[in-house]
Amino acid sequence: MRAEVIAIGDELTTGQRLDTNSQWLARELGVIGIPVAFHTTVTDSLEDGVAAFRIAASRADVILSTGGLGPTADDLTRDVLSLTVDLPLELSDAALAAVEARFAARVMPMPQTNRRQAMFPKASRIIPNPDGTAPGIDIDIARVGGGTCRAFALPGVPSEMRVMWEQTVKQALLAMQPDASTLVFRRIKCFGAGESAVEAMLPDLIRRGRDPLVGITVHEGTITLRIAARGRTVTECLAKIAPTEAIIRTHLGQLVYGVEDEELQDAALAAIDAAGATLATIEVATHGQIASLFAASAARMALEPSNAQSTLRPPTLVGSIVVPDGNIPLSVDQLVEQCRRGFGATHILAVGSVVSEGEQGTGSETVEIVLAGPEGALRLCHRLGGGGSLRRSRAAQTAIDLVRKAMEAKTVPTRGRHTNDPSF
Ligand code: AMP
Ligand code: MG
Repeated sequence: MRAEVIAIGDELTTGQRLDTNSQWLARELGVIGIPVAFHTTVTDSLEDGVAAFRIAASRADVILSTGGLGPTADDLTRDVLSLTVDLPLELSDAALAAVEARFAARVMPMPQTNRRQAMFPKASRIIPNPDGTAPGIDIDIARVGGGTCRAFALPGVPSEMRVMWEQTVKQALLAMQPDASTLVFRRIKCFGAGESAVEAMLPDLIRRGRDPLVGITVHEGTITLRIAARGRTVTECLAKIAPTEAIIRTHLGQLVYGVEDEELQDAALAAIDAAGATLATIEVATHGQIASLFAASAARMALEPSNAQSTLRPPTLVGSIVVPDGNIPLSVDQLVEQCRRGFGATHILAVGSVVSEGEQGTGSETVEIVLAGPEGALRLCHRLGGGGSLRRSRAAQTAIDLVRKAMEAKTVPTRGRHTNDPSF
């Protein structure tokens, strides 16, 4: 059984409003084990609406639509469905009584236009709307080649749509599935290599049809591997995920920094904390991005109830200095010294100014990053690529990742290391 989600409304096709209903419904369908094959967005027009439902019925077993069930002239979903199945609209006395009751409860006269909301295509079922006047429509659409597709039309108002899904539609779909399954996702977050390099390190894992399925996405330098497992229970799904996660961790090693919504700076802070270290930062090329990323992460973590005690400990981040860019006459080692004098941190992270090599336009630009600790200094040259702000955020991420890896290894190696991964 597979589904199609249809979002109806001119405000969506014109880009005035973002279609968040489809995203929400697609996730919910996934949770109850129904894959979504198509998302369609269509205008408030009879002709286009009918075409959208006919096409969807021809290629999906279930349709979930939202929008167009209101009382106004541009709300055409009930007419669209009536034309799609070629059956007339009929007044439902029960639905009319419900709409009237909602107005009576507010001591308001019911406008005649709202009668429309009690009209349903013949042979359809009513989906109650506990939070609004527009009930939904549950209807079977006959396919040209035989068989039927079941469509659930819900209102566009996101809160009403969600309640109706929870109370009625979800149960109806679960009842339609002979052996109901569930879908569980696990996201593994990585940093420090390009997308294709990561794929190459995971032989045969990112293959369509694999069970569990592994997908790869990249966002601002962070690579997310998403494991999707289908099973009868959540426990069964988790058991399927575990071996795949283990393969990923074995092959990617320290490239993996966290899971789910964890950010690189969260992992770095946790690693500093676990190592019993403290950090101060001094930045030139990165315009204070490292300090602000760390500060935001620390603030977020302090809000988590499980971390309430951590405020009793001395802070992991003891200070930061941001030096304006330009020709700073200080070497990175001198920056480290400046910072060391000011703060009593065990470790200093310094990001120097941009160094251009070769002739303008042809030469490369690099920034030097140093992490100095009691055991010595770890040194990294980061080659800058992309536009100005992208360069800075990449350099900041690279520096934060250097801290994370060093802290995870519990010691800072004494010998310097140069990295110039061209894929990154
Ligand atoms: P409708 O049921 O089409 O009258 O829509 C009622 C309200 O829900 C309007 O404010 C729409 O902008 C909003 N809405 C409709 N469809 C969506 C959607 N797919 N995602 C988010 N909001 C929506
Ligand atoms: Mg609308």
